[in-house]
Amino acid sequence: MELLKERIRKDGKIKEGNVLKVDSFLNHQMDVELFHKIGEEFKRRFAEEEINKILTIEASGIGIACVVAEVFHVPVVFAKKTQTKNIAGDVYTTKVESFTHGRIYDIIVAKEFLGKGDKVLIIDDFLANGKALEGLAELVKLSGAEFVGAGIVIEKGFQVGGNVIRSKGIHLESLAIVDSMDEETGEIVFR
Ligand code: 5GP
Repeated sequence: MELLKERIRKDGKIKEGNVLKVDSFLNHQMDVELFHKIGEEFKRRFAEEEINKILTIEASGIGIACVVAEVFHVPVVFAKKTQTKNIAGDVYTTKVESFTHGRIYDIIVAKEFLGKGDKVLIIDDFLANGKALEGLAELVKLSGAEFVGAGIVIEKGFQVGGNVIRSKGIHLESLAIVDSMDEETGEIVFR
């Protein structure tokens, strides 16, 4: 998606540890008009699929997933991150290793909001090593819902997540794939 790539080139900031900061339009301040165009692009790319629910993960996935859900005319559910040890039986839960924070946390979704008959599109802002996406896919599996595909705004193609997910035969659509980024020069190369 050229418009998105242009925006990343213009406003993206490369930080230590292979982190791309896009706080001015995606992760802190949010450009909702751009989100809408992103939603339409996902709608086009998943036009062949039947989708009746969108699933994302707090916090940074929520804004984008809400706008995408509006374009798809379906509800959106976000998995919550929790440190509670004793999780009640009315939730599905799994563990996720965080790329940005380097620790493991539990994610949960209430059984009430995900289950058989749901055809789920997972939406997230970034794909790096794929742990967040794998965790969300696990929740879908536990619930008995169908995992239709995953829509990612920015994939860091030099990390393993994209290959891992695609090798499983999952329908993955990333709107901008960064093949390399240089902290010194600020140069970002897209696939
Ligand atoms: P993964 O689980 O694929 O390793 O990482 C994906 C999650 O980590 C995303 O939900 C995103 O919030 C965060 N993340 C990973 N890499 C980056 C990055 O370069 N920039 C930002 N802003 N978030 C990232």
